[in-house]
Amino acid sequence: HTQNLCDASTRHFSSVPSPQSNSTEENGFKGHGMLAPFTAGWQSTDGSYVYDIDGKKYLDSLAGLWCTALGGSEPRLVKAATEQLHKLPFYHSFWNRTTKPSLDLAKELLSMFTAREMGKVFFTNSGSEANDSQVKLVWYYNNALGRPDKKKFIARSKSYHGSTLISASLSGLPALHQKFDLPAPFVLHTDCPHYWRFHLPGETEEEFATRLANNLEELILKEGPETIAAFIAEPVMGAGGVIPPPKTYFEKVQAIVKKYDILFIADEVITAFGRLGTMFGSDMYNIKPDLVSMAKALSSAYVPIGAIMVSPEISDVIHSQSNKLGSFAHGFTYSGHPVACAVAIEALKIYQERNIPDHVKQISPRFQEGVKAFAGSPIVGEIRGVGLILGTEFADNKSPNDPFPAEWGVGAIFGAECQKRGMLVRVAGDNIMMSPPLIMTPDEVEELVSIYGDALKATEERVAELKSK
Ligand code: PMP
Repeated sequence: HTQNLCDASTRHFSSVPSPQSNSTEENGFKGHGMLAPFTAGWQSTDGSYVYDIDGKKYLDSLAGLWCTALGGSEPRLVKAATEQLHKLPFYHSFWNRTTKPSLDLAKELLSMFTAREMGKVFFTNSGSEANDSQVKLVWYYNNALGRPDKKKFIARSKSYHGSTLISASLSGLPALHQKFDLPAPFVLHTDCPHYWRFHLPGETEEEFATRLANNLEELILKEGPETIAAFIAEPVMGAGGVIPPPKTYFEKVQAIVKKYDILFIADEVITAFGRLGTMFGSDMYNIKPDLVSMAKALSSAYVPIGAIMVSPEISDVIHSQSNKLGSFAHGFTYSGHPVACAVAIEALKIYQERNIPDHVKQISPRFQEGVKAFAGSPIVGEIRGVGLILGTEFADNKSPNDPFPAEWGVGAIFGAECQKRGMLVRVAGDNIMMSPPLIMTPDEVEELVSIYGDALKATEERVAELKSK
Protein backbone atom coordinates (compact mmCIF):
# COMPACT_ATOMS: atom_id res chain seq x y z
CA HIS A 1 0.00 0.00 0.00
CA THR A 2 2.89 2.31 0.34
CA GLN A 3 6.12 3.68 -0.93
CA ASN A 4 8.01 5.46 1.70
CA LEU A 5 11.56 5.37 0.49
CA CYS A 6 12.14 9.00 -0.29
CA ASP A 7 14.86 9.80 -2.70
CA ALA A 8 16.33 13.17 -3.28
CA SER A 9 15.63 13.30 -6.97
CA THR A 10 13.68 16.14 -8.56
CA ARG A 11 10.99 13.63 -9.38
CA HIS A 12 10.38 13.78 -5.67
CA PHE A 13 8.52 10.50 -5.66
CA SER A 14 9.67 7.19 -7.01
CA SER A 15 7.32 6.03 -9.70
CA VAL A 16 7.78 2.36 -8.94
CA PRO A 17 6.40 1.15 -5.66
CA SER A 18 9.46 0.21 -3.67
CA PRO A 19 10.80 0.18 -0.98
CA GLN A 20 14.93 0.68 31.69
CA SER A 21 12.92 -0.14 36.77
CA ASN A 22 15.43 -0.09 39.51
CA SER A 23 16.52 -3.63 39.01
CA THR A 24 20.11 -4.64 38.69
CA GLU A 25 19.33 -7.48 36.36
CA GLU A 26 22.07 -9.12 34.40
CA ASN A 27 24.03 -6.50 32.48
CA GLY A 28 22.42 -3.88 34.63
CA PHE A 29 19.88 -2.91 32.01
CA LYS A 30 17.26 -0.71 33.56
CA GLY A 31 13.90 -0.98 31.90
CA HIS A 32 11.74 2.00 31.30
CA GLY A 33 9.72 1.09 34.36
CA MET A 34 6.44 1.48 32.54
CA LEU A 35 4.50 -0.16 35.35
CA ALA A 36 6.66 1.21 38.13
CA PRO A 37 5.45 4.14 40.19
CA PHE A 38 6.50 7.44 38.62
CA THR A 39 7.35 10.68 40.24
CA ALA A 40 6.82 13.90 38.36
CA GLY A 41 10.27 15.15 37.75
CA TRP A 42 11.38 17.44 35.06
CA GLN A 43 10.00 20.87 34.46
CA SER A 44 12.20 22.97 32.22
CA THR A 45 15.56 23.16 30.57
CA ASP A 46 18.27 25.58 29.56
CA GLY A 47 21.19 24.52 27.37
CA SER A 48 22.97 21.59 29.06
CA TYR A 49 20.83 21.88 32.21
CA VAL A 50 17.43 20.63 33.28
CA TYR A 51 15.33 21.82 36.22
CA ASP A 52 13.14 19.61 38.34
CA ILE A 53 9.72 20.60 39.62
CA ASP A 54 11.28 22.06 42.76
CA GLY A 55 13.43 24.32 40.62
CA LYS A 56 16.65 22.42 41.33
CA LYS A 57 19.16 22.68 38.49
CA TYR A 58 21.06 19.67 37.12
CA LEU A 59 23.80 19.33 34.56
CA ASP A 60 22.34 16.73 32.22
CA SER A 61 25.30 14.45 31.57
CA LEU A 62 23.14 12.06 29.56
CA ALA A 63 21.50 14.62 27.25
CA GLY A 64 18.06 13.23 28.07
CA LEU A 65 18.64 9.68 26.84
CA TRP A 66 21.74 10.26 24.68
CA CYS A 67 19.69 12.53 22.47
CA THR A 68 19.33 16.26 23.18
CA ALA A 69 22.53 16.93 21.28
CA LEU A 70 21.86 20.66 20.96
CA GLY A 71 20.78 21.02 24.57
CA GLY A 72 17.35 21.88 25.82
CA SER A 73 16.75 25.37 24.55
CA GLU A 74 17.73 25.78 20.93
CA PRO A 75 15.38 28.49 19.56
CA ARG A 76 16.01 27.59 15.92
CA LEU A 77 14.49 24.15 16.45
CA VAL A 78 11.43 25.66 18.13
CA LYS A 79 11.05 28.11 15.25
CA ALA A 80 11.38 25.36 12.63
CA ALA A 81 8.66 23.34 14.36
CA THR A 82 6.36 26.31 14.78
CA GLU A 83 6.66 27.46 11.20
CA GLN A 84 5.95 23.99 9.89
CA LEU A 85 3.01 23.59 12.27
CA HIS A 86 1.49 26.74 10.82
CA LYS A 87 2.13 25.75 7.23
CA LEU A 88 1.39 22.03 7.05
CA PRO A 89 1.26 20.25 10.38
CA PHE A 90 0.73 16.88 8.75
CA TYR A 91 0.54 15.06 5.55
CA HIS A 92 1.45 11.44 5.00
CA SER A 93 4.04 9.92 2.68
CA PHE A 94 2.00 7.09 1.22
CA TRP A 95 1.33 6.30 -2.42
CA ASN A 96 4.42 7.94 -3.89
CA ARG A 97 3.70 11.38 -2.59
CA THR A 98 5.26 13.10 0.36
CA THR A 99 6.03 16.55 1.77
CA LYS A 100 8.90 18.87 0.96
CA PRO A 101 10.51 18.69 4.44
CA SER A 102 10.72 14.92 4.15
CA LEU A 103 12.36 15.12 0.72
CA ASP A 104 14.74 17.85 1.82
CA LEU A 105 15.73 15.90 4.91
CA ALA A 106 16.35 12.73 2.87
CA LYS A 107 18.52 14.71 0.49
CA GLU A 108 20.50 16.29 3.31
CA LEU A 109 21.12 12.97 5.06
CA LEU A 110 22.34 11.39 1.85
CA SER A 111 24.79 14.22 1.29
CA MET A 112 26.03 14.28 4.89
CA PHE A 113 26.81 10.60 5.06
CA THR A 114 30.18 10.34 3.35
CA ALA A 115 31.56 7.04 4.67
CA ARG A 116 30.16 5.58 1.45
CA GLU A 117 27.49 6.44 -1.06
CA MET A 118 23.94 5.87 0.11
CA GLY A 119 20.86 5.64 -2.08
CA LYS A 120 17.59 6.19 -0.24
CA VAL A 121 16.13 7.14 3.09
CA PHE A 122 13.10 5.79 4.91
CA PHE A 123 11.65 7.66 7.89
CA THR A 124 10.38 6.21 11.15
CA ASN A 125 9.41 7.66 14.51
CA SER A 126 12.12 6.05 16.62
CA GLY A 127 15.29 4.02 16.65
CA SER A 128 13.36 0.83 17.43
CA GLU A 129 11.16 1.31 14.39
CA ALA A 130 14.25 2.04 12.34
CA ASN A 131 15.80 -1.31 13.28
CA ASP A 132 12.52 -3.18 12.79
CA SER A 133 12.31 -1.60 9.36
CA GLN A 134 15.86 -2.72 8.60
CA VAL A 135 14.86 -6.33 9.18
CA LYS A 136 11.84 -6.12 6.90
CA LEU A 137 13.82 -4.31 4.26
CA VAL A 138 16.62 -6.88 4.30
CA TRP A 139 14.11 -9.72 4.09
CA TYR A 140 12.32 -8.08 1.21
CA TYR A 141 15.70 -7.56 -0.49
CA ASN A 142 16.69 -11.20 -0.16
CA ASN A 143 13.26 -12.33 -1.36
CA ALA A 144 13.70 -10.03 -4.34
CA LEU A 145 17.05 -11.66 -5.07
CA GLY A 146 15.50 -15.12 -4.87
CA ARG A 147 17.35 -16.03 -1.65
CA PRO A 148 14.45 -16.93 0.64
CA ASP A 149 16.70 -18.77 3.10
CA LYS A 150 19.06 -15.85 3.71
CA LYS A 151 17.10 -14.36 6.62
CA LYS A 152 19.01 -14.68 9.90
CA PHE A 153 20.50 -11.70 11.71
CA ILE A 154 23.65 -11.64 13.80
CA ALA A 155 23.85 -9.07 16.58
CA ARG A 156 26.18 -8.84 19.57
CA SER A 157 25.79 -9.63 23.25
CA LYS A 158 25.18 -6.42 25.26
CA SER A 159 24.05 -4.49 22.21
CA TYR A 160 20.97 -2.29 22.38
CA HIS A 161 18.84 -1.86 19.30
CA GLY A 162 15.44 -1.00 20.74
CA SER A 163 12.38 -2.28 22.57
CA THR A 164 9.94 -3.52 19.93
CA LEU A 165 9.72 -7.28 19.42
CA ILE A 166 12.28 -7.36 16.65
CA SER A 167 14.63 -4.62 17.86
CA ALA A 168 14.58 -6.14 21.37
CA SER A 169 15.40 -9.48 19.77
CA LEU A 170 18.39 -7.91 18.06
CA SER A 171 19.48 -6.38 21.35
CA GLY A 172 21.83 -8.52 23.38
CA LEU A 173 20.61 -7.69 26.88
CA PRO A 174 19.00 -10.57 28.79
CA ALA A 175 16.51 -8.30 30.56
CA LEU A 176 14.99 -7.47 27.18
CA HIS A 177 14.56 -11.16 26.37
CA GLN A 178 13.70 -12.88 29.63
CA LYS A 179 9.97 -12.99 30.30
CA PHE A 180 9.22 -11.74 26.79
CA ASP A 181 9.88 -15.03 24.97
CA LEU A 182 12.65 -13.36 23.00
CA PRO A 183 14.84 -13.29 21.04
CA ALA A 184 12.99 -14.29 17.89
CA PRO A 185 14.49 -17.46 16.43
CA PHE A 186 16.09 -15.77 13.43
CA VAL A 187 18.38 -13.67 15.64
CA LEU A 188 21.79 -14.97 16.70
CA HIS A 189 24.20 -13.24 19.05
CA THR A 190 27.95 -13.17 18.79
CA ASP A 191 30.62 -11.88 21.20
CA CYS A 192 30.48 -8.53 22.93
CA PRO A 193 33.66 -6.68 21.93
CA HIS A 194 34.53 -5.61 25.46
CA TYR A 195 38.27 -6.04 25.81
CA TRP A 196 38.57 -5.34 29.55
CA ARG A 197 35.92 -7.90 30.43
CA PHE A 198 36.50 -10.62 27.90
CA HIS A 199 40.14 -10.67 26.80
CA LEU A 200 42.23 -13.72 27.61
CA PRO A 201 45.35 -13.38 29.74
CA GLY A 202 48.12 -11.84 27.65
CA GLU A 203 45.84 -11.17 24.67
CA THR A 204 46.33 -7.77 22.98
CA GLU A 205 43.38 -5.71 21.73
CA GLU A 206 44.24 -6.70 18.16
CA GLU A 207 44.42 -10.38 19.07
CA PHE A 208 41.13 -10.08 20.91
CA ALA A 209 39.55 -8.51 17.81
CA THR A 210 40.95 -11.32 15.65
CA ARG A 211 39.51 -13.95 17.98
CA LEU A 212 36.08 -12.28 17.88
CA ALA A 213 36.17 -12.07 14.09
CA ASN A 214 37.13 -15.76 13.96
CA ASN A 215 34.25 -16.62 16.29
CA LEU A 216 31.91 -14.66 14.05
CA GLU A 217 33.14 -16.59 11.03
CA GLU A 218 32.69 -19.88 12.87
CA LEU A 219 29.10 -18.96 13.73
CA ILE A 220 28.40 -18.04 10.11
CA LEU A 221 29.86 -21.32 8.86
CA LYS A 222 28.02 -23.34 11.48
CA GLU A 223 24.66 -21.78 10.54
CA GLY A 224 25.45 -21.73 6.82
CA PRO A 225 26.34 -18.42 5.14
CA GLU A 226 23.37 -18.88 2.81
CA THR A 227 21.10 -18.42 5.86
CA ILE A 228 22.67 -15.24 7.26
CA ALA A 229 21.25 -11.98 5.93
CA ALA A 230 22.84 -9.24 8.01
CA PHE A 231 25.09 -8.26 10.88
CA ILE A 232 24.06 -5.28 13.03
CA ALA A 233 26.37 -3.26 15.26
CA GLU A 234 26.52 0.03 17.12
CA PRO A 235 29.86 1.73 16.32
CA VAL A 236 30.17 2.28 20.09
CA MET A 237 27.85 0.18 22.22
CA GLY A 238 25.67 2.49 24.27
CA ALA A 239 23.06 1.17 26.68
CA GLY A 240 25.03 -2.05 27.17
CA GLY A 241 27.57 0.00 29.10
CA VAL A 242 29.42 2.32 26.64
CA ILE A 243 31.80 -0.08 24.97
CA PRO A 244 34.05 1.32 22.24
CA PRO A 245 35.39 -1.33 19.86
CA PRO A 246 38.86 -2.78 20.38
CA LYS A 247 41.51 -1.78 17.85
CA THR A 248 41.03 -3.36 14.39
CA TYR A 249 37.65 -4.86 15.34
CA PHE A 250 35.49 -3.28 12.66
CA GLU A 251 38.11 -3.81 9.97
CA LYS A 252 38.17 -7.54 10.74
CA VAL A 253 34.44 -7.99 11.22
CA GLN A 254 33.62 -6.14 8.01
CA ALA A 255 35.99 -8.39 6.06
CA ILE A 256 34.19 -11.47 7.41
CA VAL A 257 30.66 -10.33 6.64
CA LYS A 258 31.70 -9.18 3.19
CA LYS A 259 33.26 -12.57 2.48
CA TYR A 260 29.90 -14.27 3.03
CA ASP A 261 27.72 -11.68 1.29
CA ILE A 262 26.17 -10.58 4.57
CA LEU A 263 24.87 -7.01 4.86
CA PHE A 264 26.34 -4.68 7.47
CA ILE A 265 23.88 -2.50 9.39
CA ALA A 266 25.39 0.36 11.39
CA ASP A 267 23.07 1.29 14.24
CA GLU A 268 24.04 4.95 14.57
CA VAL A 269 21.10 5.89 16.80
CA ILE A 270 23.54 7.21 19.43
CA THR A 271 26.68 7.84 17.40
CA ALA A 272 25.32 9.88 14.47
CA PHE A 273 25.76 13.65 14.25
CA GLY A 274 28.96 14.28 16.11
CA ARG A 275 28.84 12.26 19.32
CA LEU A 276 32.28 10.70 18.71
CA GLY A 277 33.86 13.82 17.20
CA THR A 278 33.03 12.72 13.66
CA MET A 279 29.72 13.34 11.93
CA PHE A 280 28.92 9.61 12.02
CA GLY A 281 30.37 6.70 13.99
CA SER A 282 31.03 5.04 10.64
CA ASP A 283 33.54 7.83 9.87
CA MET A 284 35.35 7.18 13.12
CA TYR A 285 35.84 3.46 12.56
CA ASN A 286 35.97 3.35 8.78
CA ILE A 287 32.73 1.40 8.58
CA LYS A 288 31.17 1.11 5.14
CA PRO A 289 27.67 -0.03 6.02
CA ASP A 290 24.99 -1.22 3.63
CA LEU A 291 22.29 0.19 5.89
CA VAL A 292 22.32 2.81 8.65
CA SER A 293 19.83 3.46 11.47
CA MET A 294 19.46 6.90 13.03
CA ALA A 295 17.17 8.65 15.55
CA LYS A 296 17.80 10.69 18.72
CA ALA A 297 20.12 13.56 17.65
CA LEU A 298 18.50 13.55 14.21
CA SER A 299 16.07 16.09 15.68
CA SER A 300 18.11 16.70 18.82
CA ALA A 301 15.12 14.87 20.35
CA TYR A 302 12.80 17.89 20.11
CA VAL A 303 10.32 15.75 18.20
CA PRO A 304 10.36 11.99 17.62
CA ILE A 305 11.93 10.89 14.36
CA GLY A 306 14.14 8.06 13.15
CA ALA A 307 15.49 7.11 9.77
CA ILE A 308 17.25 4.41 7.88
CA MET A 309 19.55 4.91 4.94
CA VAL A 310 20.12 2.16 2.42
CA SER A 311 22.83 1.66 -0.16
CA PRO A 312 22.06 2.27 -3.84
CA GLU A 313 22.60 -1.46 -4.50
CA ILE A 314 19.80 -2.35 -2.10
CA SER A 315 17.40 0.37 -3.20
CA ASP A 316 18.03 -0.56 -6.85
CA VAL A 317 17.13 -4.18 -6.21
CA ILE A 318 14.02 -3.17 -4.35
CA HIS A 319 12.96 -0.82 -7.12
CA SER A 320 13.69 -3.19 -9.93
CA GLN A 321 12.02 -6.16 -8.28
CA SER A 322 8.99 -4.55 -6.78
CA ASN A 323 6.93 -5.03 -9.92
CA LYS A 324 7.39 -8.75 -9.48
CA LEU A 325 7.16 -8.91 -5.70
CA GLY A 326 4.60 -6.20 -5.13
CA SER A 327 5.27 -2.91 -3.42
CA PHE A 328 7.41 -2.60 -0.33
CA ALA A 329 4.32 -2.62 1.82
CA HIS A 330 5.75 -0.99 4.89
CA GLY A 331 5.26 2.43 6.39
CA PHE A 332 3.92 4.34 9.36
CA THR A 333 1.30 7.07 9.45
CA TYR A 334 3.97 9.42 10.73
CA SER A 335 6.83 8.31 8.45
CA GLY A 336 8.37 11.55 7.27
CA HIS A 337 6.15 13.68 9.51
CA PRO A 338 6.65 17.21 8.17
CA VAL A 339 7.12 18.84 11.58
CA ALA A 340 9.68 16.25 12.66
CA CYS A 341 11.45 16.58 9.32
CA ALA A 342 11.50 20.39 9.53
CA VAL A 343 13.08 20.22 12.98
CA ALA A 344 15.59 17.60 11.81
CA ILE A 345 16.58 19.71 8.80
CA GLU A 346 17.29 22.61 11.13
CA ALA A 347 19.25 20.38 13.52
CA LEU A 348 21.40 19.12 10.63
CA LYS A 349 22.01 22.71 9.52
CA ILE A 350 23.19 23.58 13.01
CA TYR A 351 25.49 20.55 13.23
CA GLN A 352 27.12 21.68 10.02
CA GLU A 353 27.13 25.46 10.50
CA ARG A 354 28.52 25.25 14.01
CA ASN A 355 30.75 22.33 13.07
CA ILE A 356 29.54 20.36 16.05
CA PRO A 357 31.81 17.34 15.38
CA ASP A 358 34.76 19.70 15.56
CA HIS A 359 33.47 21.26 18.77
CA VAL A 360 33.25 17.73 20.20
CA LYS A 361 36.84 17.12 19.10
CA GLN A 362 37.89 20.29 20.93
CA ILE A 363 36.17 19.66 24.24
CA SER A 364 36.18 15.87 24.47
CA PRO A 365 39.86 15.37 25.37
CA ARG A 366 39.31 17.26 28.62
CA PHE A 367 36.02 15.37 29.21
CA GLN A 368 37.71 12.00 28.62
CA GLU A 369 40.97 12.76 30.42
CA GLY A 370 39.28 14.60 33.27
CA VAL A 371 37.05 11.65 34.11
CA LYS A 372 39.61 8.96 33.27
CA ALA A 373 41.98 10.60 35.78
CA PHE A 374 39.79 8.91 38.41
CA ALA A 375 40.37 5.45 36.95
CA GLY A 376 42.80 4.67 39.79
CA SER A 377 39.96 4.78 42.32
CA PRO A 378 39.79 1.51 44.28
CA ILE A 379 36.11 1.08 43.38
CA VAL A 380 36.49 1.73 39.64
CA GLY A 381 36.98 -1.26 37.38
CA GLU A 382 37.18 0.59 34.10
CA ILE A 383 36.41 4.00 32.62
CA ARG A 384 35.99 3.91 28.85
CA GLY A 385 34.79 6.18 26.12
CA VAL A 386 35.48 8.27 23.07
CA GLY A 387 34.33 11.75 22.09
CA LEU A 388 31.41 12.75 24.30
CA ILE A 389 30.37 9.33 25.47
CA LEU A 390 31.76 7.71 28.55
CA GLY A 391 31.10 4.68 30.73
CA THR A 392 32.30 3.87 34.22
CA GLU A 393 32.09 0.35 35.57
CA PHE A 394 32.49 -0.15 39.29
CA ALA A 395 34.27 -3.30 40.41
CA ASP A 396 36.32 -4.53 43.31
CA ASN A 397 40.05 -5.15 42.92
CA LYS A 398 39.98 -3.54 39.43
CA SER A 399 38.71 -6.87 38.15
CA PRO A 400 35.76 -7.61 35.86
CA ASN A 401 35.43 -10.84 37.83
CA ASP A 402 34.91 -9.08 41.16
CA PRO A 403 31.64 -7.19 41.01
CA PHE A 404 30.40 -5.56 44.20
CA PRO A 405 27.41 -7.31 45.79
CA ALA A 406 24.36 -6.17 43.82
CA GLU A 407 22.54 -5.31 47.04
CA TRP A 408 25.14 -2.66 47.86
CA GLY A 409 23.92 -0.72 44.83
CA VAL A 410 27.26 0.97 44.23
CA GLY A 411 26.15 2.44 40.91
CA ALA A 412 22.95 3.76 42.49
CA ILE A 413 24.95 5.32 45.34
CA PHE A 414 27.14 7.14 42.80
CA GLY A 415 24.07 8.26 40.83
CA ALA A 416 22.47 9.65 43.99
CA GLU A 417 25.71 11.43 44.98
CA CYS A 418 25.81 13.05 41.54
CA GLN A 419 22.17 14.14 41.83
CA LYS A 420 22.81 15.61 45.26
CA ARG A 421 25.51 17.75 43.66
CA GLY A 422 23.37 18.76 40.70
CA MET A 423 24.22 16.31 37.94
CA LEU A 424 22.24 13.54 36.23
CA VAL A 425 23.97 10.36 35.06
CA ARG A 426 22.56 7.09 33.81
CA VAL A 427 22.84 4.25 36.28
CA ALA A 428 22.48 0.64 35.14
CA GLY A 429 23.60 -1.70 37.89
CA ASP A 430 27.23 -0.79 38.52
CA ASN A 431 27.59 0.86 35.12
CA ILE A 432 27.44 4.62 34.87
CA MET A 433 26.87 6.20 31.48
CA MET A 434 27.36 9.74 30.31
CA SER A 435 26.73 11.31 26.92
CA PRO A 436 26.24 15.02 27.49
CA PRO A 437 24.84 17.56 25.03
CA LEU A 438 27.29 18.15 22.20
CA ILE A 439 27.09 21.91 22.75
CA MET A 440 28.71 21.69 26.17
CA THR A 441 31.05 24.51 27.04
CA PRO A 442 34.52 23.98 28.52
CA ASP A 443 33.19 25.34 31.84
CA GLU A 444 30.42 22.76 31.84
CA VAL A 445 32.98 20.02 31.18
CA GLU A 446 34.92 21.27 34.23
CA GLU A 447 31.73 21.21 36.30
CA LEU A 448 30.98 17.66 35.16
CA VAL A 449 34.48 16.43 36.01
CA SER A 450 34.40 18.12 39.38
CA ILE A 451 30.99 16.70 40.38
CA TYR A 452 32.07 13.27 39.11
CA GLY A 453 35.20 13.41 41.32
CA ASP A 454 33.30 14.52 44.43
CA ALA A 455 30.55 11.94 43.93
CA LEU A 456 33.17 9.24 43.42
CA LYS A 457 34.93 10.17 46.64
CA ALA A 458 31.63 9.99 48.56
CA THR A 459 30.90 6.63 46.92
CA GLU A 460 34.35 5.30 47.86
CA GLU A 461 33.66 6.23 51.50
CA ARG A 462 30.30 4.48 51.43
CA VAL A 463 31.81 1.35 49.86
CA ALA A 464 34.55 1.35 52.53
CA GLU A 465 31.81 1.43 55.19
CA LEU A 466 29.92 -1.40 53.51
CA LYS A 467 33.10 -3.46 53.28
CA SER A 468 33.91 -2.98 56.94
CA LYS A 469 30.52 -4.32 58.06
N1 PMP B 1 19.53 1.75 18.80
C1 PMP B 1 20.37 2.29 19.70
C2 PMP B 1 21.84 2.16 19.49
C3 PMP B 1 19.86 2.96 20.81
O1 PMP B 1 20.70 3.48 21.72
C4 PMP B 1 18.47 3.08 20.96
C5 PMP B 1 17.85 3.83 22.12
N2 PMP B 1 18.60 4.03 23.23
C6 PMP B 1 17.65 2.49 19.99
C7 PMP B 1 18.21 1.85 18.92
C8 PMP B 1 16.15 2.55 20.11
O2 PMP B 1 15.70 3.82 19.88
P1 PMP B 1 14.26 4.29 20.41
O3 PMP B 1 14.31 4.29 21.91
O4 PMP B 1 14.12 5.64 19.81
O5 PMP B 1 13.27 3.33 19.89
